[in-house]
Amino acid sequence: MGLKLYNTLTRQKDDFVPIDANNVRMYVCGPTVYDFAHIGNARPVIVFDVLFRLLRHVYGEAHVTYVRNITDVDDKINARAMRDYPNDKPVEAIRHLTETTYAQFEKDVTELGCLKPTVTPRATEHIAEMIAIIERLIAGGHAYVAEGHALFHVPAMADYGALARRSLDDMMAGARVEVAPYKRDPMDFVLWKPSKDDEPGWDSPWGRGRPGWHIECSAMSWKHLGETFDIHGGGVDLVFPHHENEIAQSRCAFHRDVMANIFMHNGFLQVEGEKMSKSLGNFFTIRELLNDWPGEVLRFNMLKTHYRAPIDFTVRGLEESAAILTKFKKTVAKFSRISGMESVGVISALSDDLNTPAAITEMNHLNSIASGVTYDGGAAKLSEVLEREEEAANKLAWALKLLGFSTQENKVTLSAEFRNQVTALIAARLEARKARNFAESDRLRDELAAMGVVLKDAKNKDTGEIETTWEVKR
Ligand code: AMP
Ligand code: ZN
Repeated sequence: MGLKLYNTLTRQKDDFVPIDANNVRMYVCGPTVYDFAHIGNARPVIVFDVLFRLLRHVYGEAHVTYVRNITDVDDKINARAMRDYPNDKPVEAIRHLTETTYAQFEKDVTELGCLKPTVTPRATEHIAEMIAIIERLIAGGHAYVAEGHALFHVPAMADYGALARRSLDDMMAGARVEVAPYKRDPMDFVLWKPSKDDEPGWDSPWGRGRPGWHIECSAMSWKHLGETFDIHGGGVDLVFPHHENEIAQSRCAFHRDVMANIFMHNGFLQVEGEKMSKSLGNFFTIRELLNDWPGEVLRFNMLKTHYRAPIDFTVRGLEESAAILTKFKKTVAKFSRISGMESVGVISALSDDLNTPAAITEMNHLNSIASGVTYDGGAAKLSEVLEREEEAANKLAWALKLLGFSTQENKVTLSAEFRNQVTALIAARLEARKARNFAESDRLRDELAAMGVVLKDAKNKDTGEIETTWEVKR
């Protein structure tokens, strides 16, 4: 079954034909590690993890190389490192900060069911490769040096802008905001910039400095995947300028027609209908959400929407996801002989540009068969019906595993909203008791019981106050 992937380069679903089927190569731009990752950052990690799993299924585990880099040098990192590690030398301070932050990131995404990529290179360990690419670009007339900076000269590349398909005017308008005096053209972008003494820096032919952001990915993809590779991914915000500039650097340095054959971009995530931002108070780190929800529920919720569509992350959606996932797992748990069986329906959905919502629809269908819902009590012999149910359960279990879910039932974690509601009702009940309004306190106890909450009252020996503990029995 052929795999088709939507390619931002061609604006259509292209047949996926690997350069080398024995080594399918994918690069995804990874996190800039200075703080906890937010749930929006989790989207590309989950989406490309599903693609990694699918490619491993199709081409074999040993034949897929997935590189997801770590951006561990960046001005936001520098500022945070100076604040948090003021006594360290700049390069040591950023290392300190990025090691801690990356360890947290890895922990978060592991809980979201993501496999470790084959390689997770750090930008700061690829300075030599970056310098080598910049030297090639300068030698080829695609870059120049000015005031300690190395800059890519955009007019020196005939088809710059082919990925983003932006008009030159649009790009110029964006570039003109603040044009540095040393730029020959407003669109020229930084490959290397000088560092002050208190900033992290490395020796280079152009003086002590640090890399621009885009050159990092050209260097790391080159080192680990070669001059050209199969798939390059990231969020849709990276199309321009980041991926456009990566393409310019890599193609001009290696004199190739493409950097990667297919560029894939995931849509953005919003929270409860609004752009996620700290000022709106709807900014959630993966860590915070994991306190309230199992990682698998967060993952499932992400996959209910097609990766290219925008996604609205809501508590309601999470509750729905938890219910569907529990339903699937309960169905699988009813069968004792589960060894897994490939579901052609699920594979064909995923092969159509990673259509996870269609895969979930197919899983729902398998679930109905396995739970006997579709049994019409008619002609089929009971043994055939049972066989059909068992086969569907095996396919469902296989699909869960393929998408990165376990088939074991999770312990239910309660949402923050639910816990807040319980706390408020218990407080109201204690108030009612203090006011000797026993009818009201009994009513509240019943309301909590209807939610599955069982209360236990006990007198605090020190204060003499009644305290209430609770648990959920479902
Ligand atoms: P950053 O650390 O900001 O460079 O982002 C890391 C990755 O997360 C990139 O691939 C971004 O495109 C992606 N990303 C950031 N915010 C969101 C969001 N709200 N929704 C989806 N992807 C996002
Ligand atoms: Zn990148």
